[in-house]
Amino acid sequence: MSKTARCVVVIQCAVAHERCPGTQCAAAFAERKDCFAGYGREAVYYVPFTCGGCPGRRVSRLVENVRKVMTKSGVEQDEIVVHLASCVVNDNGHYPPCPHVDDMRLILSRKGFRVADGSRISQRAEQRRQNGTYRKREE
Ligand code: SF4
Repeated sequence: MSKTARCVVVIQCAVAHERCPGTQCAAAFAERKDCFAGYGREAVYYVPFTCGGCPGRRVSRLVENVRKVMTKSGVEQDEIVVHLASCVVNDNGHYPPCPHVDDMRLILSRKGFRVADGSRISQRAEQRRQNGTYRKREE
């Protein structure tokens, strides 16, 4: 059974980051809503990153660095959950889902990280997924 999460890493699309600083995802985490609804108060570390750019292979180095830093703070690897942000996994106002998302999931899981999909859920994008403008979100 997985340990309680104490650190949430959010990997944002580097291209989307050029127009979105990720503040609404950070607010969703602070409010424990959308894809962060299940976290308790013990999840005190919120670590936002970008993927480092296409094709997403830099996530390997990024999460290694997070693991090292978190270990120094007394957080074990199985207390870290890596979220692929909504701009990575969903069809949305930025772009369609990342074409490299499956490789990023594979890289992260091979390194032993717990991986979760999504961050803030935009209600406008959700409506557009419902009416067929955007592709539906995978549950
Ligand atoms: S690899 Fe995917 S998430 Fe990263 S910049 Fe390219 S499209 Fe965006």
